[in-house]
Amino acid sequence: MEPNQAKPAPEARQKAREAALARIRTAKAADPVRLAEQLVAGNRVALSQGITWVESRLPEDRAGAEALLEAVLRLKTPDHSSLRIGITGIPGVGKSTMIERWGQMMIEAGHRVAVLAVDPSSGRSGGSVLGDKTRMSALAVHANAFVRPSPAADALGGVARATHEAMLLCEAAGFDRVLVETVGVGQSETAVRDMTDVFLLMVLGRTGDELQGIKRGIMEMADWVWVNKADGPGAAAAAEAARALQLALHLMPRPEHGEAVGILTGSGETGMGLAELSLAIEGLGERLRNSGQLDALRTAQRLAQFSAHVRLALLDAVRERPHMQAKWLQLQTQVQHGQISAFSAARSFVNGLDSTL
Ligand code: GDP
Repeated sequence: MEPNQAKPAPEARQKAREAALARIRTAKAADPVRLAEQLVAGNRVALSQGITWVESRLPEDRAGAEALLEAVLRLKTPDHSSLRIGITGIPGVGKSTMIERWGQMMIEAGHRVAVLAVDPSSGRSGGSVLGDKTRMSALAVHANAFVRPSPAADALGGVARATHEAMLLCEAAGFDRVLVETVGVGQSETAVRDMTDVFLLMVLGRTGDELQGIKRGIMEMADWVWVNKADGPGAAAAAEAARALQLALHLMPRPEHGEAVGILTGSGETGMGLAELSLAIEGLGERLRNSGQLDALRTAQRLAQFSAHVRLALLDAVRERPHMQAKWLQLQTQVQHGQISAFSAARSFVNGLDSTL
C-alpha cells in the first residue's frame, strides 16, 4: 500500500502537467466532428484526446467538448449492451491488481474493457491515491483495453466531473465493459455509484469488530462485496469477514433491484474466485437488462449528471464574473463575523445572479 500513497516528486507533477497541457493543445487543434468519427471507428488516440477535451476546465474548450459529445452521440446512439461497473475500496485493498486480472478475463470472454479512475485526492494535493500509469501494466497495453489514469492535478481539475462523459466516449469507441474505480473516502464513491450500473465494494479479511470501521453508507451502496486477499494465510480472516458481513448486510435495506447483496471471497493476485465474481456481476447485469431496470438506471444516471452539471456550470458562471466573486468574498466575510446568517447570505448571493446570467 505504501507505494501508492507516496506523493509524486514535484518534477514528476510538473511533467504530468506539461503532458496534460500538450494533450489539450493537440486535442484543440482537432476538428470535433473529425475526432468523433475517428473515435467511433475505435481509434484509441482519438479517444484519449476526446477525454482530455471533456476533462478540460478551460472556458475556451467548452464549446469544442460539447460539439464532440454531440457528434459522437449522433454517430453512435448509446445502447444498453455495455455494463458500467463501479469499484471502490481503500488504498491497498488490491483494486489495481484485481482489475488487471479481471479485465483480462473479460477480454478473453470477448469484451473490450475501459478502466477509468475517480481519484478524490489528485485535485487537491497534487498526489494521487490511485497512482500513476504503471498500474495495470498488462491491461494498459492490451489492444482491447483502454486504461485512463486519473486526471493530472490542477492542470485539468474537476476530477469527477468529466468521468460520465469519458464513459460515454469509451462506449462509443466500442468498449462495452467500463470499470470506474475509486477509493472509499470522501464523496467520490457516491459520484461513482451515481454513474454506474453495478457497484462492487472491495474489503480485506478481518474480524467482525474491525468491519465496523467500514462506513455503513458505502456498504449500503454495494451490489456485491468482494473480500480480497483470501489467498494463503489470509484465507481464514477472509472467511470470517464474509460471515460477519453476511450478518451486517442482513440488517440493511436491499439494493433497489431487490436482490440481496452478494458476498464473495477471493484473490485478485491468484485469480481465485474471479470466475465466480464475473458470473455474479454479468448475471446481475443481464437481469437488469432483461427486466428493463437498466433503462431506468441509465435514465437516473443521466438525470444525476444533469443536476451535477447545472451545479458546476453555475459555479463556473460565478467564477467567470469578477463582481460575483467580489460579492462572494464580501458575504463570506460577513458570515465569518456572524453579521449575517449563512442562509440569508446564500439567498442574497443567488438573488444577485439573476441579473448577471
Ligand atoms: P489498490 O491500492 O487498491 O489498487 O491495491 P494494489 O492492487 O496496488 O495492491 C496493494 C498491495 O496488495 C500490493 O502490494 C499487492 O501486491 C497486494 N495484493 C493485491 N491483491 C492481492 C491479493 O489478492 N492477495 C495478496 N496476498 N496480496 C495482494
